[in-house]
Amino acid sequence: MEEIEREIRSKLSGLERRIEVESSRRWAIHKCQRDIEKLRQELANSSHWTCVSPHPTESKRLIPRRGLPSYPKYTLSLETIKALKRPTFNLWQWAPNEMLSCIEYMFHDLGLVHEFSIDGVTLKRWLLSVQGNYRDNPFHNWRHSFCVTQMMHGMIHLCRLQDHLSPTENLILMIAAVCHDLDHPGLDNTYQVNARTDLALRYGNHSPLERHHCAVTLELLSRDETNILSAMEPGASDEIQKGVMELILATDMARHVQIMASFSQCVEIFDFQNLKHLRLLEQVLIKCCDTSNEVRPPQISEPWLDFLLQEYFMQAVREKMEGLPVSPHMDPEKVSKSGSQVVFLTSVLIPMFESLTQIFPQLEATMVHPLRGARDHYRHLEVEEARRLLSSTPSEGTVAV
Ligand code: 5GP
Ligand code: MN
Repeated sequence: MEEIEREIRSKLSGLERRIEVESSRRWAIHKCQRDIEKLRQELANSSHWTCVSPHPTESKRLIPRRGLPSYPKYTLSLETIKALKRPTFNLWQWAPNEMLSCIEYMFHDLGLVHEFSIDGVTLKRWLLSVQGNYRDNPFHNWRHSFCVTQMMHGMIHLCRLQDHLSPTENLILMIAAVCHDLDHPGLDNTYQVNARTDLALRYGNHSPLERHHCAVTLELLSRDETNILSAMEPGASDEIQKGVMELILATDMARHVQIMASFSQCVEIFDFQNLKHLRLLEQVLIKCCDTSNEVRPPQISEPWLDFLLQEYFMQAVREKMEGLPVSPHMDPEKVSKSGSQVVFLTSVLIPMFESLTQIFPQLEATMVHPLRGARDHYRHLEVEEARRLLSSTPSEGTVAV
């Protein structure tokens, strides 16, 4: 009996040592990635910036001075322009400034700049300010905003939303995509509520993060130098701001079940003339774009999962330090990469995208199919991991012999 115990203990400490070594390597890689992102941000945020925020939180946020915004003008190649409309777009190869240019291009391409007489310089200043108001988090950062916006641009083209929705509705979708996680602190709503943060107190524990993203969005649109809606009648501008708020608030995953239940009721009898149906469709569209990483090819989506888990683990460390409850899906001791993806793909992503295919069948091949592929891949990994774990655990028979 003692021998068995000794053997198990020695295997256990071997495994623990391995975990230590492997995690220190992983953290070193993450640190390098974060340093790279930080340096890129520094390059992007030139000396044209000053600090202001509607509700200054821990770190100072940036908005530009009135001066002419300066970032190099990139001419996008035809290949890039085509690729920008597809979920296969390689979003890792672009520096922060280049992402600004790409989004600027999307607003022109969709005819929004022309339709709403958006001043070109104001558009640049607004985009620079939005970029400056994303923090340097592993996941909720400017590149995430870019991804969500690029996916929305792709959806608009793929689903021919310009034929189905008004220009105002298309503008709302794009502004909401760019702004939806503004000034995200890298700690989720559960943390905000449990830690009784300023945001949670300010918003009475109701979607504090999403309400904060809305507040920063409105703040930027309220300043002359960054108000891309300034050429509109006040009524039209109010309608757009209200629409953007509704969509940003819909990104709170705590509302997922309720939104999907309402959407599934209207999807079979969907009517583009019915405003209630349209509002729900727009909410589901932004939710799909917000969580669409797994629609992308594996080599593009996988780093996002690592960054998401890194942000989760940083939150878990902080919660443990502060004596707060740790959510099981964030606890490094309880989470497996494949397990977390199988659950998310099966219970959230696939049903949500499938319901959208009832209105837009063309999403089946471009989006639902890759999602099923990702689910099968992670299921396979999960089985492999379980098998490896079993084979490294001594069975009674082997030890007794
Ligand atoms: P966001 O915080 O970006 O506005 O809302 C999306 C939320 O959905 C994320 O915070 C995260 O909790 C969840 N999410 C998005 N993509 C993934 C994913 O690929 N895997 C898992 N497990 N969760 C995801
Ligand atoms: Mn998001």
